[in-house]
Amino acid sequence: MSEKDSHVVPLYSKDGSLYGILLSPQIWETVGRKIGPILEGALDAMYPALASQKPEPLEDWQTFKDYWDFKYPFNARVECKVCGAVSEDWEHDPEKPFHLKNASLSGLCVFHCKQCNATVRKKHFKDHICFEATPQQGDSTGSCGTLVE
Ligand SMILES: [Zn+2]
Repeated sequence: MSEKDSHVVPLYSKDGSLYGILLSPQIWETVGRKIGPILEGALDAMYPALASQKPEPLEDWQTFKDYWDFKYPFNARVECKVCGAVSEDWEHDPEKPFHLKNASLSGLCVFHCKQCNATVRKKHFKDHICFEATPQQGDSTGSCGTLVE
């Protein structure tokens, strides 16, 4: 095994089946920041019940609101295209049917639907909002072009 091979080492059990990949601290330092969020997303998909227990990134949500520069007034409506759950005002909804997972200045807000465990994406474009939802298992559904007055 060359030194290069020692950074990403597949680990096999006695019967020859793969049971893990060992990453060296050096390679993790290089790629960990990039693949960390991907791993986290994959784990959330594997354990959706736990995903909804994570604290919501409310600071990011606040920043998203603070830098609002879309052509329509701010609204916190969230809907799930999979099960039909709707919150007219996510911020003040006592039922809290959606759990915020991510809010970014690019206009993408990601929620977890507590009713059906779907991942709900609210995409803010310059002049319209688009909702998409990915069921716990399966293909995403959604329609773009929900025009906002
Ligand atoms: Zn749902």
